[in-house]
Amino acid sequence: MNAYDSERMAEALAPAGFELTEAMDDADLVILNTCHIREKAAEKVYSELGRVRLTKEARKAHGRDTMVAVAGCVAQAEGEEIIARAPVVDIVVGPQSLHRLADLVAKASTGKRSVETEFPAQDKFAALPQRATGKRQTSAFVTVQEGCDKFCTFCVVPYTRGAEYSRSPSEIVAEVERLAARGVREVTLLGQNVNAYHGDAAGGGTWGLARLLRRLGEIPSIARLRFTTSHPRDMDDDLIALFGDDEKLMPYLHLPFQAGSDRILGAMNRKHTAEEYEGLIERIRAVRPDLALSTDVIVGFPGETDADFEDTLSLVRRVGFAQAFSFKYSARPGTPAAKLEDQVPEAAKKERLAALQALLEESRHAFDRSVVGRRLPVLFEGKGRKPGQVTGRSPYLQAVHVEGPEALIGHIAEVDIRAAGPNSLTGVMN
Ligand code: SAM
Ligand code: SF4
Repeated sequence: MNAYDSERMAEALAPAGFELTEAMDDADLVILNTCHIREKAAEKVYSELGRVRLTKEARKAHGRDTMVAVAGCVAQAEGEEIIARAPVVDIVVGPQSLHRLADLVAKASTGKRSVETEFPAQDKFAALPQRATGKRQTSAFVTVQEGCDKFCTFCVVPYTRGAEYSRSPSEIVAEVERLAARGVREVTLLGQNVNAYHGDAAGGGTWGLARLLRRLGEIPSIARLRFTTSHPRDMDDDLIALFGDDEKLMPYLHLPFQAGSDRILGAMNRKHTAEEYEGLIERIRAVRPDLALSTDVIVGFPGETDADFEDTLSLVRRVGFAQAFSFKYSARPGTPAAKLEDQVPEAAKKERLAALQALLEESRHAFDRSVVGRRLPVLFEGKGRKPGQVTGRSPYLQAVHVEGPEALIGHIAEVDIRAAGPNSLTGVMN
């Protein structure tokens, strides 16, 4: 979602003459688009601002000014505090106020600092410019839903991104049509809780995510659809059925389970048990047996015992994941879990994370090896690292490298998968 927001910020600033640069030395404006989900991510912002300050001073010595903005959820959560702690910052802008960025930059160029952390999201989507037609791209993200009303006890999202908000279907369809017109073949719909999507349709009524996906699948040149991140409680029958009957919906689902112990799931306020999670997976696999599953897992939630952690490991063994993201629990200010007394010591969290990640890696490799020998349609996205190589994605989101012409980029071609490396597959085209 931050990658998507960053793109939209660049577009919002283009009319004022800004363009992207990879080199901080060249930048008249540096924007840190930040994440507040774990303490480590939030702390990075301040160390990075130290680096920005040095660049700003070096540029100043050559008579060049540098504006500095902090955007994203750290901006939202810490507001004024950022300017107090890091005087190098000129602009603090929360994720729901991105449409105000161009004005804030204009203000900052006259020496005025701003802190803008207003909700709600609807103003932003209406006010951001339509997506640019510049860069050619095969795969794109589109935010369809923001915020969250679930209030898992460990999570800051409901506080930083605000209440659940769904964009209207017509706005999303128009955005995807524009992307399709500029060559995009694959769209990933984004939301903190994307399957809670419920957009108000122009003709009345509300569309769920399944209906939206079906409609987007009608756009002829859009070949592949994905969505992330889903909550197990919001996987409704329509969405499950879609995995079985919509060829454009890829057989890949990111469905966090967080913990394998029902006691911990209850304390997390996840609103489902481990058995319900597994039952759900069974129902989806019944309509799409080759489904690749991805997940998020947290170790060391307050009160987690060795036995609770064992439950997490055995769930991983039973389900089998093609991909996973795993984290040590990080106490976030203002969340209920941060106030719990039985916080797990850092050493135990570290040990559990290492054991979990070893198991998840095994599971991922097993999945990758299972496609060796198969012929898979690959959507080519770019040049490979080696000359003469092109790279793309399998339906299961695996990176695939083949020898082939650059003309394949933007197209889907059948590839015989020959080998599974540590992070990607290699194949040949016949
Ligand atoms: N909405 C998604 C869901 O319900 O699973 C998750 C969105 S959250 C931005 C991404 C992941 O970060 C979560 O699934 C969780 O595993 C992890 N996460 C969130 N808060 C965390 C915390 N306080 N400590 C560690 N990991 C956390
Ligand atoms: Fe955070 Fe996801 Fe829970 Fe919402 S559903 S509170 S985004 S973990």
